[in-house]
Amino acid sequence: MVKENLKSVEDRIEKACQRAKRDRNEVTLIAVSKTKPVELIEEAIDYGIREFGENKVQEIMDKYEAVKTNVNWHMIGHLQRNKVKYIVDKVCLIHSVDSFRLAEMIDQEAKKKGVICNILIEVNIAKEDTKFGVMAEEVIPLLEQIAKLDNVRVKGLMTIAPFVDNSEKNRVHFRNLRNLYVDIKTKNIDNIDMKILSMGMTNDYEVAIEEGATMVRVGTGIFGERNYVVKD
Ligand SMILES: *Cc1c(COP(=O)(O)O)cnc(C)c1O
Repeated sequence: MVKENLKSVEDRIEKACQRAKRDRNEVTLIAVSKTKPVELIEEAIDYGIREFGENKVQEIMDKYEAVKTNVNWHMIGHLQRNKVKYIVDKVCLIHSVDSFRLAEMIDQEAKKKGVICNILIEVNIAKEDTKFGVMAEEVIPLLEQIAKLDNVRVKGLMTIAPFVDNSEKNRVHFRNLRNLYVDIKTKNIDNIDMKILSMGMTNDYEVAIEEGATMVRVGTGIFGERNYVVKD
């Protein structure tokens, strides 16, 4: 089933690129494998996928060990400072940095491991009170602080758009994030390299691509619904 799903997602990405007159190579598909077993990840690997997204530190550590193919792991979930040390040298990109304190911790742990850690700033572009991420107006001051850290490199911005019934409702948010991204790019802040715009999930990745996403994070659309274990 994973392969059929991937074929359909790939087809929809291709068509969204065509509508937006963009090259397919400008968009990276991240397969969000959270809660899903390694066997399904292997199916996606067979299909040719090498980018995987996870939102829990423990799950990244387990899957990092279990998956033998060389793939890229993306940390897309909220990250606690005390857990940074477990993943800083295992992930290719942390999408969810939303404070200077977290960036500082990543810098410190990256230094210890002798690596440079690539990060995105998570922006709460729709100003939802239930979401993590910094407000749009706080992004540039935060970048100016993070720019001083030696072992952290900001590569772009990420957002989780609101859960909506019609993906068109998120177009304005994607457009706003893209405008902020372009704004920052033109400012040429030292040490800040704006080239990744991580936006769009199963329900809205086509709209996100039309609005300029360079990374889309698709879970359900590839691996099916997630079954969360309800604990009481
Ligand atoms: C779970 C998750 C996704 C994927 O969500 P789907 O709706 O299943 O595609 C994308 N991004 C983040 C940050 C997530 O936590």
